[in-house]
Amino acid sequence: MNKKFFITTAIDYTNDAVHIGHSYQKILADAIARYHRLLGEETYFLTGTDEHGQKVEKSAIEKGVEPKKFVDEIAAEDKAEWDALNISYDRFIRTTDPDHIKFAQEFYLKAKTSGDIYLGKYEGLYCEGCEAYYEESELVDGKCPFHPNRELIKISEENYFFRLSKYQNFLQKYIEGHPEFVIPETKRREILSFIKNGLRDFSVSRQSVSWGIPVPDDPKHTIYVWFDALINYLTYGVEKKSWPADLHVLGKDNQRFHAIYWPAMLKSAGYELPKTILVHDFISLNGQKISKSLGNVIKPSELTKDFGVDGVRYYFLRFGPSTNDVDISLEKLKTIFNSDLANGLGNLVARVAGLSERSEFTTSKPKKLSFSKEVVKAIEKYEVDKALELIWGEIKKADVFINERGVWNLKGKQKEAALTYLINRIRQVASDLKPFLPETAEKIEKQFKGPKIKSEKPLFPRLD
Ligand SMILES: [Zn+2]
Repeated sequence: MNKKFFITTAIDYTNDAVHIGHSYQKILADAIARYHRLLGEETYFLTGTDEHGQKVEKSAIEKGVEPKKFVDEIAAEDKAEWDALNISYDRFIRTTDPDHIKFAQEFYLKAKTSGDIYLGKYEGLYCEGCEAYYEESELVDGKCPFHPNRELIKISEENYFFRLSKYQNFLQKYIEGHPEFVIPETKRREILSFIKNGLRDFSVSRQSVSWGIPVPDDPKHTIYVWFDALINYLTYGVEKKSWPADLHVLGKDNQRFHAIYWPAMLKSAGYELPKTILVHDFISLNGQKISKSLGNVIKPSELTKDFGVDGVRYYFLRFGPSTNDVDISLEKLKTIFNSDLANGLGNLVARVAGLSERSEFTTSKPKKLSFSKEVVKAIEKYEVDKALELIWGEIKKADVFINERGVWNLKGKQKEAALTYLINRIRQVASDLKPFLPETAEKIEKQFKGPKIKSEKPLFPRLD
């Protein structure tokens, strides 16, 4: 049997459509998925939308439409955005999909059979922005750490609870014993210290929210939106017989749910845990949080119009928030586009094609290439920025080679040897670029297939 690789992104909440702040995660997961597909592994790449909960219900009411109609529109918009970025998901799951609803209810009953779900009373604070409960001790100046402009809601209702406290020791030991379970390491330490502070049972149902999956054995409750949403990975994983997931990719606002709630839920219902949870930081735009209320929302499809799909993919993969928050601007995107893509990769390809064409050089057929060793090392550690840095190092070396040797002045065997070297370098660059810039890699491969190599339109025309 083929090796399999199952990778997921977080599913986006449908109170509003996605924007560029959500792009990094999808492009990152896409590059990793493509890499595993290119290795010949049976790859499953899941993305989608998280559609239930109070905030969605409210947004639909404000717009005067039925919640289902409301989320249908948002899900279609989100999907179109990921298509614009060439995200190669195998399924776009929606938590309103009938197979997911059925599976989530079965999962709930499994956890209940394990004795981990009980009726209790919740009194405390709730952030609608996160659709999450908060302890006083977690607040920053009395507000949600992720939504400083939102008022927390005081909730007091009878809910079903999940016995998270029962899994405290298990989680602590597991995460201490599995350094690969949460990466990067800084995030793993945050999770561990959160666990050590003590885990409290959390509410898994709501009575005051009707837009949700009914609790199967007490339908006046709906299943808490996070409990429902996390199960999406398993809905698909079980369908494809590919559970456990190899990699969940998500933002730091979701780490607590994925690294604490989710493994405890899985353990309770009798499933294996995912292998790795990869947490990334946030993107801001011109020094500001990206949000509709600030009026600075840009859609991925607007960016691809100006910078091309691979222009956007390159920028995010190379300079994205893998381990730190990152501020972006259209000015920075343009500068990098011109320096790294137009002048860097694009110029090298044009130079070597021009040199080959002018000397009427005939090249041998390309060999079947695999990824460079160093690139493999970086991707296997999910350091895509590093992988691209290495590839751009090769581009730079080829440029220096042309200048130092004065390749345009060489004659005979010397010129043939120089061109052969350069063409092979470019073929290797194209092969290494496939997971990251798939369209560009394909164009370069086609242009450099030989035996004759011709000049083509520039890959990345300079932006003014
Ligand atoms: Zn919040």
